Amino acid sequence: MSDKLIVVTGAGGFIGGSLVASLRQKGHSQIRAVDIKPLEHWYQKFDDVENLSLDLNEKENCEIAAKGSGEIYNLAANMGGMGFIEKNKALCMLSVLINTHMLMAARKSSVERFFYSSSACVYNGELQHTSDDGDRFTPPALKEADAYPALAEDGYGWEKLFSERMCRHYREDFNLYTRVARFHNVYGPWGTWFGGREKAPAAICRKVIEAKLTGKHEIEIWGNGHQTRSFMFIDDCVKGIDLIMNSNIIEPINLGSSEAVSINQLVDIVEDIAEIRLHRNYDLGAPKGVNGRNSDNTLIQKYLGWEPSIPLRKGLEKTYAWILEQYRLREQGAAGVVREIDLASQR
Ligand code: NAD
Repeated sequence: MSDKLIVVTGAGGFIGGSLVASLRQKGHSQIRAVDIKPLEHWYQKFDDVENLSLDLNEKENCEIAAKGSGEIYNLAANMGGMGFIEKNKALCMLSVLINTHMLMAARKSSVERFFYSSSACVYNGELQHTSDDGDRFTPPALKEADAYPALAEDGYGWEKLFSERMCRHYREDFNLYTRVARFHNVYGPWGTWFGGREKAPAAICRKVIEAKLTGKHEIEIWGNGHQTRSFMFIDDCVKGIDLIMNSNIIEPINLGSSEAVSINQLVDIVEDIAEIRLHRNYDLGAPKGVNGRNSDNTLIQKYLGWEPSIPLRKGLEKTYAWILEQYRLREQGAAGVVREIDLASQR
């Protein structure tokens, strides 16, 4: 295994922490993990890794983070599920500072490779508001070209789109090797599962667990439950990051599952896993995002002969079991519970 220094930003969070875990497993011995959170709040932390708590909005801190590194995986962003990004647009857009300063630092340190985590939220919203015909609705599979003409998700999506282009221009103008993946909803163990930033799979697992353990057999669902998404299990995400970083794919590419489900179907699966049926209360005023989207994986198949394929049911079984364990730890007031801290107050 090469001994070049690998930097992962956002390493105190869900995907960054899982990427560090996977790099260690592959035998990489020099890893620098960076996150704004104090170390005790990191979801996963490894003692054989250089762990730095730094605010990467600041250019000087990005230079410290990038110094001496061969590869950078830039996953740091101030983000969360729909409940967070619809109410914190300015905060989401401020993450533009992180990627801009990380690119500048990468160039200054002559870094060999730079990976940026973009999002399906860059896609034109007009393509995702197709009429709602209930659970039979087939969501549009978004292909990479559908990001333009641009009408990204307000706030978060525009930041991602801008940062994608910064990566492109650093590649074209300064010859920096950049790779960009557009993640479609990622879920799995070690993701945020309560506190306001959690995404649908974790939120639904938590609500079903709560209903089961409290005996109050009801669940609140945001929107009418017909909105559709595809959900990629974390192991597929980490594998895809590695494949894309080491590929010749120079344009942003989808990294997502193409197994689309409605939120109602997602609840069906989690209820099956929990062996329970719940009464559903729909909150039509809650944030629900676009009506439907799926990942068109034609390009990733063409370039890599691979696409995320871990079945939703299988990934949810693992996620449900992990959240159940976390739930019990929290009930007991035990250490080791993954919780979110208030990053909003830091800007
Ligand atoms: P996460 O919130 O768990 O991790 C992001 C981490 O970035 C957090 O630990 C946070 O503390 C850190 N961070 C925020 N501001 C920072 C700053 N100023 N300096 C240093 N660190 C800072 O989120 P995640 O799900 O692991 O997402 C990782 C990346 O993938 C993000 O860029 C996100 O936008 C992108 N993405 C995620 C999903 C998904 O479904 N999880 C989907 C699309 C894109």
